Amino acid sequence: MPEAPKITLNPTTEHCCYTTLADKNKRKLEFIENVTTNADDVQKKVLGEILSSNAHVEYLQRHGLNGKTADRHTFKKLMPVSTYEDIQQDINRIANGGTSPILCSKPISEFLTSSGTSGGERKLMPTIEDELERRSLLYSLLMPVMSQFVPDLEKGKGMYFLFIKSESKTPGGLVARPVLTSYYKSSHFKNRPYDPYTNYTSPNETILCPDSYQSMYTQLLCGLCQNKEVLRVGAVFASGFIRAIKFLEKHWRLLVNDIRSGTLNPQITDPSVRESVMKILNKPNQKLADFIENECRKDNWEGIITKLWPNTKYVDVIVTGTMSQYIPTLDFYSNSLPLVCTMYASSECYFGVNLNPLCKPSEVSYTLIPTMAYFEFLPVHRNTNGVTNSISMPKSLNEKEQKELVDLVDVKLGQEYELVVTTYAGLYRYRVGDVLRVAGFKNKAPQFNFICRKNVVLSIDADKTDEVELQNAVKNAENHLIQFNATLAEYTSYADTTTTIPGHYVLFWELSLNGTTPIPPSVFEDCCFAIEESLNSVYRQGRVSDKSIGPLEIKIVEPGTFDKLMDYAISEGASINQYKTPRCVKFAPIVELLNSRVVSNYFSPKCPKWVPGHKQWSN
Ligand code: AMP
Repeated sequence: MPEAPKITLNPTTEHCCYTTLADKNKRKLEFIENVTTNADDVQKKVLGEILSSNAHVEYLQRHGLNGKTADRHTFKKLMPVSTYEDIQQDINRIANGGTSPILCSKPISEFLTSSGTSGGERKLMPTIEDELERRSLLYSLLMPVMSQFVPDLEKGKGMYFLFIKSESKTPGGLVARPVLTSYYKSSHFKNRPYDPYTNYTSPNETILCPDSYQSMYTQLLCGLCQNKEVLRVGAVFASGFIRAIKFLEKHWRLLVNDIRSGTLNPQITDPSVRESVMKILNKPNQKLADFIENECRKDNWEGIITKLWPNTKYVDVIVTGTMSQYIPTLDFYSNSLPLVCTMYASSECYFGVNLNPLCKPSEVSYTLIPTMAYFEFLPVHRNTNGVTNSISMPKSLNEKEQKELVDLVDVKLGQEYELVVTTYAGLYRYRVGDVLRVAGFKNKAPQFNFICRKNVVLSIDADKTDEVELQNAVKNAENHLIQFNATLAEYTSYADTTTTIPGHYVLFWELSLNGTTPIPPSVFEDCCFAIEESLNSVYRQGRVSDKSIGPLEIKIVEPGTFDKLMDYAISEGASINQYKTPRCVKFAPIVELLNSRVVSNYFSPKCPKWVPGHKQWSN
């Protein structure tokens, strides 16, 4: 029998007193050492805890686990690998008020609404109260790791643009909201004890303000007022940080005016926000106002971050995955300050941290923290073109494929895997949908590069549009062409994040025209709108509520353009027999080729419809 590891899985140490910050950091780093050294034992213990506490839940019993506090082997033999669609009926029962232990013995405290969608709606991830502790634990590891590389961060503040999003109630009365909204509204965040590492320029009230204009305005104002104290800046994702800079570009005159006069813009009407901001903006500051005005009125905003916040040491934003498209813009605004990706997380579960945060964005790897959940890995087999994306719906795994799943400590360097989790909140062998590649190991725990989200072709912010959704949306739009005897011969798409901020979806359309009546621009605009209306709820929320996605654009290209695209692909080595038009393009020469053959372009004239919650709930 292996000796039981001397580790606590329960992060109660959070509450004991540390003598110094250095001591606290040391303990956190020791925790990482400990759980990564004993990764396999920790994983065994985590699975044991999950299965024993949920021994009598319906889902496990249904699959024959039947109260046996199963070992790993029995668990893997009996429990199928699952997708959201497999558990959707159970989720719906809970959403409709089912309180018997269906997935988890502990009460489901709320649903976390994932940016991943199913049937056009956000997926609902069950969560339990304890998960907040686990999330807090992961957050508490970030600064001890960071402070090994950048000293003295406790001597100043972080300017982080953090926001809440709208929430809704399920028919059974459970709150449904994004994981970060849940976290910021929890006492773990709101009532956090003083800690130099969570000392932000934004008062809680500004983060918790539901009005996005007021929230962004006041967070920027507070950041500007405390500009010399700021040592690090950031947001969760790169897209959110760039949105803040664009907001500053648009509104700096008002902000400067407030700083100059020591009074607050009357558009800020939320009383608790006003009160908290007035504690910071307590008197006129002519000198700071002049300084900011002088910088902001320049035409060239290159390096604006380092100018307005001169002590900034790094930009803390996720730039892995689809967010890498924003790296050049961030480099421009920050004068190439280090871009730091600290963590990898989701609504299902928080996964891991980057132990080498000053590495280049292309080299970022995340070490999965073995206490967070029970992790398994499904090897990804690429097809001959090296492409994993296909236009198929996720299929169930056959017995052979089920057997291919490996444990955390058994993954192989360089191999790609799909992440599968079993969580304390009641997901069992659940496919998250992320593809990861093993980049190295921290002790026994693997470190992963984030490769991609399976099947996603287009993304600007939190939206994740897959090929099937895009195809269906395009089909709906194409109907508008019928009356003109025109059809869509070919199409592809592109996430344009450089020519407009916020970025927007571009569709390149090649038409086959058989009619004589010219197609008026308004018809193409209707097509743009029809596509937007058909896209999933996260996309539409980005358009309507978050304003993080710009109007969709259709670019009509000359006849023969897609033949040219094929010629290009073949000249680059693609096989003629296997060539299929890519439904999304990213490679710059291809985008240039398409753009060089555009004959006209049209934008969606209005925002699509969106309401919080699922469309079948009345909120
Ligand atoms: P959500 O469930 O909406 O919170 O989205 C979680 C998903 O966001 C993950 O499954 C990933 O696809 C993506 N994600 C989260 N953290 C990172 C990261 N550090 N790098 C790249 N993608 C990430």
